[in-house]
Amino acid sequence: MQKYVYGVDIGGTNIKFGLFSIPKMELIQKLEDSTPLTNHETSVFTLVAETINKINKENGIEMSQVEGVGIAVPCPVKDGYVEKCPNLKWEKLDINLSLKKYLPYNIKIAVSNDANIAAYGENQSLEIPHKNAVFYTLGTGVGGGIIIDGEILEGRTGAGGEIGHMHVFEGTEPCSCGLSGCLEQICGTSAILKQARELAVYYPTQLNLEKLTVKNVFDYAKTGDVVAAKVVDRIGEYMAISASILSVSLDPDIFIIGGGISKAGDILIDTIKKHYIKHARFNTGDIPFVLAKTGNDAGIIGAAHYVNKN
Ligand SMILES: [Zn+2]
Repeated sequence: MQKYVYGVDIGGTNIKFGLFSIPKMELIQKLEDSTPLTNHETSVFTLVAETINKINKENGIEMSQVEGVGIAVPCPVKDGYVEKCPNLKWEKLDINLSLKKYLPYNIKIAVSNDANIAAYGENQSLEIPHKNAVFYTLGTGVGGGIIIDGEILEGRTGAGGEIGHMHVFEGTEPCSCGLSGCLEQICGTSAILKQARELAVYYPTQLNLEKLTVKNVFDYAKTGDVVAAKVVDRIGEYMAISASILSVSLDPDIFIIGGGISKAGDILIDTIKKHYIKHARFNTGDIPFVLAKTGNDAGIIGAAHYVNKN
């Protein structure tokens, strides 16, 4: 009998569902709904169970064919437990235990932070998954996930893999984490746009500062625009500094770069590599950097892989 798993990516705005066949991990159906933020987890878990039933029905699948449900959530998670999740208004919640009340008892549930889950899925989606991998997700925020010996590193409190908040420069403005000098304050969307506008005061540029986007910055950097090139170079330099710090702590097999900003493509990887060579210690200089492949489906793919393995 064909078996399946679900990957569910619970965000502050939307919940994405993916039905995957196992063992091939083929995506059978995708569905997206808005996140209900009433009654805390009750409304979310009711929707998860209802949607799974609905997708099953549409595909002629019995619940007994569903092996597990993998869940990605936008906050630190430790062994399925969430201390605080501001985006979902959850506090002190054991997701494993709570969600079990809404699904048949024998269905496996595996939960982790969304960036950790994406890291897991990206690594599993490589031709040969690595034992040790570091994943960056560059977007509005900068997040990440660390895979050690094939397992997600959640750490003691679930803060493992929060590499966007590595201290990489002496800053004064507060970061979303409450401190300053974080990688996110150089490589996150608002930091990139701010830096371009600041440099435009001193250097000539073709950038449209009124309607500026990160895509514009990378596109113009490719054409040699001075301001755009300086911004991209700065992103590459600080990404490289953070990667070199991680290299002497973890010595990973690979760095995978994902998130919306990674759509910039080779220019991003090439700029990081150019600087990484200068900062890498010992024999860590040849650790490869690759672009992530799973894109917007990183959460559902990762969650499905994660529950399939657990
Ligand atoms: Zn921070």
